[in-house]
Amino acid sequence: MGSLTFTTSISELKRIGVRRAKVLSENHIQTVQDLLYTFPRRHLDRTSVSQIKLLRKGDHSSIIGSVRSMGEKAIRRGRIFQVFLSDGTGSMTLTWFNGVKYIKNLFKVGDRLAVYGKIDYYNGFSITHPDFDRLSSHDDPVNTGAILPLYPLTQVYKSAGLEQRIFRKIMLDIFENLDEVPELFTQEICEKSGLIPRKDALHEIHFPKNEDSLKDAIYRLKFEEHFFLQLLMAFRKATLKISKATPFLITGPYVKLIEDSLPFELTNAQIKVISEIKDDMKMPQSMNRLLQGDVGSGKTIVAILTIALAVGNKAQAVLMAPTEILAHQHYESIKTILDKINIPCALLIGQMKKSERQKILIGSESGSIPVVIGTHALIQDDVHFNKLGLVIVDEQHRFGVKQRGKLIDKGLNPHFLAMTATPIPRTLSITYHGDMDLSIIDELPKNRKPVVTKVIEPTRLNSVYLFMKDEVSKGRQCMVIYPLVEESEKSDLIAAVEAHKQLNESIFPDCEVGLIHGRMKTEDKDNVMELFSKNKIHILVSTTVIEVGVDIPNATVMLVEHAERFGLTQLHQLRGRVGRGAEKSYCILVKRKVTDTSRDRLSIMERTNDGFIIADEDLKLRGPGEFFGIRQSGFLQFKIANLLTDGSIIRNARDVAFSVAKNDPNLMAPHNRYIRKTFMEDYADRMDFIQIS
Ligand code: ADP
Ligand code: MG
Repeated sequence: MGSLTFTTSISELKRIGVRRAKVLSENHIQTVQDLLYTFPRRHLDRTSVSQIKLLRKGDHSSIIGSVRSMGEKAIRRGRIFQVFLSDGTGSMTLTWFNGVKYIKNLFKVGDRLAVYGKIDYYNGFSITHPDFDRLSSHDDPVNTGAILPLYPLTQVYKSAGLEQRIFRKIMLDIFENLDEVPELFTQEICEKSGLIPRKDALHEIHFPKNEDSLKDAIYRLKFEEHFFLQLLMAFRKATLKISKATPFLITGPYVKLIEDSLPFELTNAQIKVISEIKDDMKMPQSMNRLLQGDVGSGKTIVAILTIALAVGNKAQAVLMAPTEILAHQHYESIKTILDKINIPCALLIGQMKKSERQKILIGSESGSIPVVIGTHALIQDDVHFNKLGLVIVDEQHRFGVKQRGKLIDKGLNPHFLAMTATPIPRTLSITYHGDMDLSIIDELPKNRKPVVTKVIEPTRLNSVYLFMKDEVSKGRQCMVIYPLVEESEKSDLIAAVEAHKQLNESIFPDCEVGLIHGRMKTEDKDNVMELFSKNKIHILVSTTVIEVGVDIPNATVMLVEHAERFGLTQLHQLRGRVGRGAEKSYCILVKRKVTDTSRDRLSIMERTNDGFIIADEDLKLRGPGEFFGIRQSGFLQFKIANLLTDGSIIRNARDVAFSVAKNDPNLMAPHNRYIRKTFMEDYADRMDFIQIS
């Protein structure tokens, strides 16, 4: 017919009254476009629906059947609710352990259900807490050859009568009356990237003719989503690149002096990365570079040489770290080297005497202190620089874009170097860091031996303690880590403090056992770290405050308690605290909770020391949101895109997005008008997108 457009309000649609419109708009569905972009979460067809008699334990299967009977049952711990479903080939049980009161009212005998879940076998096939939808008696994807979409309808929708069948009718109506769909991409882009027209893609994602057309639709819609994310990256990169920076043309005496004074040879990877940085900073545009290197790969010396280059060009440099301990450590190691060549540097952190702070602020504003290292304290309003030419942020994923922007704004387009030890998988990296150039240190210093890792049960702790005593008697040091998570902070802290007491008094009476945690005063923390670095503390009990960056080459044992409570990437970071010297080092992961998956997960740590493999596994197990621990961020909320599996689509979309941004930097060309519209409406506000915990 042609009376509906993308912007038609949902309240004008058939079957949508005040109540349904309210529910939909509360879920951010206000227009026809919003509805069309509410994609089915699965489709049912002849090939995807299984017969009960052919089910296999362990598979994830879809079944369509009718409710024969149902009932509640008392078990040892509470009540369960069961539905008995049959499909003509056999029958099976659906079981709910929670929310019985509520679940039991959702079904009637005779209801037709499409259910989905992992197949179990106890006296017959069963699924616990299945995903389920009620179907009408006409919905018959098995015998008709139809492909039936199933939408992500929560109970809120269903209570407004928005059941699968109704939702499908609404969608069908839209397609019958849909006028035109604004195409985003030119013919040329569509052809080159193998994209079917937008209107077809939308139709086929909801009501596919066959599996192939569904695949094409998915491809096109994933491409769209990645395209806009990459466009965001392209614009950010461009914004940074048009800013004129001071080129650092003098290689200067400092770099050579430092290189000559190092007690070791730089690795080839370090040399390569340093030359990439040098080349970049010679340019009259700001460097915007991410330095990625596994824990212990030697990023700090790269930072120091970069700083020396800036200072040699009469500019100031600043390095920001996420924790005070880390800032302190950087300060110590940077100062040791800069002292030798008479470059003053200062440490600026939150907890500081006023007079001391004042001195540093004056020095940085006048330029008499060329190098300042610190924490978030650096971004406060009263911190000024005379000529800030280089900003380095360590563990940059711990800061928000705003925070690093604030620091950058203290200079006039300074060069920017971010460092991270979080080995972000490539597909994630070009999305998340897509606006930056990448330098990778892919080689550890030669004297490193891989850390031997073992997952153990608590019963074996005694022999580990004996081993630790032995290491300490040889002059080495150990760390014992306790988890500390925000929700249970108090009890976690108590656990760590008590463990320290026990280790100190009864288990290692002859060793010096120290304690450090985030709630301590800076002074006390510094004091403990100082003692530990001088081997006056032999065993350090810690909550995860030491997770990033701490460098004590003499430490050879890392014992992690409640290891199952940590993410793999986090464990890898922790493990990186040992194995930094020439001695053989050990990482012991104590598994306290008995679940079969935690054993599997932790054993990855035994098998590999490669941060990238671990990150990939972590990403697979936890998904990108969890992986990053993203806070209230819309950035990684995808409709259909999947960072894990869309590698080639992402690369393709990236090429297209970057060329669109290059050819039409303001998206003013008529053929880009719908790109512009969508970008402004749905993506531009993600510019400041991410904050990682
Ligand atoms: P990370 O990349 O984790 O920040 P660091 O910069 O702290 O690693 O370096 C870890 C340790 O390795 C430090 O003690 C550092 O002095 C040492 N180191 C750095 N580069 C080399 C090298 N090329 N050869 C030997 N040791 C090195
Ligand atoms: Mg480091």
